[in-house]
Amino acid sequence: MATVLAKLLRLRKATVALICFLFCVVLTQNSKAEPDARFNTVVIDAGHGGFDRGGIPGQRVAEKTMALDVGQRLRKKLREAGYQVIMTRDSDFFVPLPARVAIANAHRDAIFVCIHFNASTRAGANGIETYYYGNDSARLAANIHRHVVAGTNSDNRGIRRRGYYVLRRTSIPAVLVECGFLTNPTEARLALQSSYRDGLADRIADGIMGKPTPSNRPVVAGLTRVPAPIRQPFNYNDFVRAEPERSRSSHRTHSSAKKKSSRKKSTSSSTKKKSSTTSSKKKSSSSDSTKKKKKPSEEEPNE
Ligand code: ZN
Repeated sequence: MATVLAKLLRLRKATVALICFLFCVVLTQNSKAEPDARFNTVVIDAGHGGFDRGGIPGQRVAEKTMALDVGQRLRKKLREAGYQVIMTRDSDFFVPLPARVAIANAHRDAIFVCIHFNASTRAGANGIETYYYGNDSARLAANIHRHVVAGTNSDNRGIRRRGYYVLRRTSIPAVLVECGFLTNPTEARLALQSSYRDGLADRIADGIMGKPTPSNRPVVAGLTRVPAPIRQPFNYNDFVRAEPERSRSSHRTHSSAKKKSSRKKSTSSSTKKKSSTTSSKKKSSSSDSTKKKKKPSEEEPNE
């Protein structure tokens, strides 16, 4: 009888030890989810500007205006939190992509955050996407993305790797957030509300500051999941394959489009000229391995 009791006691001790161990593992993993806070400068890049409205032809809500507003709100929040903040543009003018990258690369202990809104010819398309390129940017992308998704009712369209010019040419961790589709009636209506834009800026700031990642909705169906380049704090798979890049994507063509076309050309016509891109684009076309598989069910981001 005594031996049975002793055995039971031992078993209980072992169980308690196991629970403590598991608890510690969870704690450790959570702490690893925290980003490295080795930066004190944030370079905010509000997309588009000036002659470049962003989005697609005929789009009512101008992406350049929404992006700048969220960027300015984000700047305020980050400054209040003690960060040094640089804006690539602070009003309605166009900044060529190489200039944006040069501003980012002029800072060492910094990160680069591009603010955009999405567009699609399909009005139903909605949701949040976040892009990164280098593995050193993946954690920042995940932190920002998960906060933004958790703060909205929009679809989680996943964290995606793509060689956009502003992500590929920056030497500091760089992330591009697509804060929703301005071609979607619901998301466009929300984006027009200052309180909603303020909330977006809040969530992006939370991600930058590495606040604990909220639990999140799964990515929308139909997206191809890819292995996360970072250790996942939770068993949560939100890294997805990016769609093939379209020539219309302004993150890579505006720099050259600006040179040859003055303001008389609209964004829609100038950015379609993929063939006009310079030699620097060569690399980008091969930088993303996702171009071979086209998924018709997925919307093309059109930043
Ligand atoms: Zn954009």
